[in-house]
Amino acid sequence: MSDTSHIVCPHCDGVNRVPSGKLAQNPKCGKCHQPLFPGRPLSLDQARCNRQIERSDIPILVDFWAPWCGPCKMMAPAFEQAASQLEAQVTLIKVNTEENQGLAAQYGIRSIPTLVMFRGGREVGRVSGAMDTAGLVAWARQHL
Ligand SMILES: [Zn+2]
Repeated sequence: MSDTSHIVCPHCDGVNRVPSGKLAQNPKCGKCHQPLFPGRPLSLDQARCNRQIERSDIPILVDFWAPWCGPCKMMAPAFEQAASQLEAQVTLIKVNTEENQGLAAQYGIRSIPTLVMFRGGREVGRVSGAMDTAGLVAWARQHL
């Protein structure tokens, strides 16, 4: 196992090499100097989301949602809170499937909300339907 992890900055898409021991110490991006783990999920488009999935050495958890979806809105605060509990182990991303239909098609998203966990560029877990914070964090930890 490598002692550095590649982390893709959620702000500028720069790829950072972070010593594994420093992941939990609020590392900053070498390019834009913003926190690599901002404590909340960021909304990314198709290209930027794929860059995270393909280049990051830590798992990426994607919330596929849409503005018209009631259960998605109910789950949004839980996903926010889960970010503060899971970050540095996982990067959390939100994808608006209305604006990124290509990405939803690429990963075969048929219902929302759907959470998909990626590791090493591959899908390792998927669950559909709204969850509360505790359920979400527990589900994510099963896939680390
Ligand atoms: Zn950056």
